[in-house]
Amino acid sequence: MSDTPYRGRFAPTPSGPLHFGSLLAALASFLDARQQGGTWMLRMEDLDQPRVQPGAADSILRTLEHYNLYWDGDIRWQSQHLPHYQGILQGLLDCGLAFVCDCSRSQLSTTNGIYDGHCRDRKLGNTADRAVRLRVDNAETGFTDRLQGPFSQHLEADVGDFVIRRRDGIIAYQLAVVADDIQQQINQVVRGADLLDSTPRQLWLYQKLDARPPHYLHIPLAMRSDGNKLSKRLGSPPLSDKGAAQTLFLALQVLQQAPPAEAQGTPVSELLEWAVRHWNPHRLPACTQLPADILPTHL
Ligand code: GLU
Ligand code: ZN
Repeated sequence: MSDTPYRGRFAPTPSGPLHFGSLLAALASFLDARQQGGTWMLRMEDLDQPRVQPGAADSILRTLEHYNLYWDGDIRWQSQHLPHYQGILQGLLDCGLAFVCDCSRSQLSTTNGIYDGHCRDRKLGNTADRAVRLRVDNAETGFTDRLQGPFSQHLEADVGDFVIRRRDGIIAYQLAVVADDIQQQINQVVRGADLLDSTPRQLWLYQKLDARPPHYLHIPLAMRSDGNKLSKRLGSPPLSDKGAAQTLFLALQVLQQAPPAEAQGTPVSELLEWAVRHWNPHRLPACTQLPADILPTHL
């Protein structure tokens, strides 16, 4: 790893309160940053207003504080930075790297969801009801994940030119996340393995924006016994404030950090200090999904 100071972040979408799966991501990125004496920023990814749930951002902040996961500096709220993303989008359009697309959902479904480049050279006007896509090519775009090892895609075949502004006018996650990680000078990203297959698109954006990508570590996802990942959408229960120390202990066990049995029952602050001192990312299970039986059913 380089000697530039570590800058990491946690970037929740306030579409619901934190559940155990998002706690794992928050905790792993926090521990990785703190152990290296790094900065840990917090960013609210609140661009997708239809998904934003009133009160969720507050609830996430309260839960992080409850687990002593204190962030550095000001929270970055994506919704307050629209002109920044619009400027980047316009730049990509102006130099022909991005293009306007009016393909309908049903047109896209004929190609297995992989965009076939239909509008690339149509030079459609940039009206508000049209999407903007970024051109890709078919060279291998990849990286070596700190946990998952080498991962790459041939973007043209695997994904196609991808959306950077949606048809409803909302800036797409792929663009916003890269724009912000660049702006916030993030050089270490620790997040859930559900985002592993977004990473080549994000690396492609870094290339187009002439910026240096961060290092990545994608932690395995906690699964439910029905085979679904823990998620707000599937109704995983919000973390309750009660029993935070037990939940934190369990999270450390799930991350295979081997908290000693006698640490069970110590307060959150002490347990977290122990975890920072003993954080060892090499102990993380190198898979993208954790076996379901690792979690108690109430999570
Ligand atoms: N906001 C994204 C999510 O909650 C995470 C973005 C990221 O960590 O890159 O899934
Ligand atoms: Zn199109």
